[in-house]
Amino acid sequence: MVLKEWSCCPACKMSANYQELKRVLEAEPVCPMCEQNVPPMSITLASDPEAEFKALTSLMKDSGPQEGNEEEDEEN
Ligand SMILES: [Zn+2]
Repeated sequence: MVLKEWSCCPACKMSANYQELKRVLEAEPVCPMCEQNVPPMSITLASDPEAEFKALTSLMKDSGPQEGNEEEDEEN
């Protein structure tokens, strides 16, 4: 996992590798996640890739739509 070139979609905030995302958008300027029109030059490198990555992993772990809202669901 390379953290130094981390970026995210300006529309849906999906975290992605900058080079990968840029390559995808140069081929077709549409985000693979939210399918919004995203010009490749509109994506920027994350200023704090480690925080971005942690947010992403916590999202995956939590699978909740909102971050910073930790509810303990007890459904069995
Ligand atoms: Zn997107």
